[in-house]
Amino acid sequence: MNEKGQLIVISGFSGAGKGTVVKELVGRYGYSLSISATTRAPRPGEVDGKDYYFKTEAEFRNLIDYNGLIEWAQYVDNYYGTPKKFVEDEIAAGRDVILEIEVQGASIVRKQYPDAMLLFITTKDVETLRERLTGRGSETEEQVAKRIRRAAEEAEMIGNYDYIIVNDDLNTCIDTVYSVILGGKCKRERNESFIQKLQEDFRAAK
Ligand code: 5GP
Repeated sequence: MNEKGQLIVISGFSGAGKGTVVKELVGRYGYSLSISATTRAPRPGEVDGKDYYFKTEAEFRNLIDYNGLIEWAQYVDNYYGTPKKFVEDEIAAGRDVILEIEVQGASIVRKQYPDAMLLFITTKDVETLRERLTGRGSETEEQVAKRIRRAAEEAEMIGNYDYIIVNDDLNTCIDTVYSVILGGKCKRERNESFIQKLQEDFRAAK
C-alpha cells in the first residue's frame, strides 16, 4: 500500500524490557533498526556499531553541528541521538524503521515526522520496574535511583504516545506490539494515495 516505510518509535522506562522486545521484532519480522549515537560508555558485551555508535562528547557535538541527527537528548548523564541518513534512506526504500529512544527524542520525531507511530512500553507498576533494574546488575544503586526518578518524569509524557503496551509476559508483549504496528499501518489516513488510486481504478471499471 504505502510506498514509504513506516517510522516506529518505541519508548519505555529503562528496565521495562523494550530492548528485548525491539530485538525480537527485528529478528522475527525484519524491521530495520536505527543504531543511535551515544556518549555513554559501553556495557559489558555491547559492541560499537551494533548496539550503539559510542562517541566522545566532542564527536557527538560534531554530529549535532553537522545536522547529522534527527533528534538528540540528554538521558541521565549522557547524550543519545538518532543518525539521520540511515532512517531517511530506509524509509525512502520502503522499509519500516524502529527507533528505540526516550521521551524527549520521541516528541521531536513526532514534530518532524507527523506520520511516525509512537509506542510506549511499560512494566505493570513501579515495583516491577525497580526489581528489574536491580536484577540487571549493571547499574549501581545510585544509577537505579536515577533511572527510577527519570521514569517518573517519563510517565508524565505518556500522553504524547499513540499506544501503551504493558510488558508483563514477553511473548504477549511482542505479539501485541507487532499487532499494533500492523494495525497502525492500515489506518486510512496513512494510505490516502493508495485509496485514491483504488477509487480511480474502480471508477474506471464501472
Ligand atoms: P541505555 O543507556 O539504557 O542504553 O539507554 C537509555 C535511554 O536512552 C533509553 O530510554 C533509550 O531508549 C534511550 N535512547 C537510546 N538511543 C537514543 C536516541 O538516539 N535518542 C534518544 N532520544 N534516546 C535514545
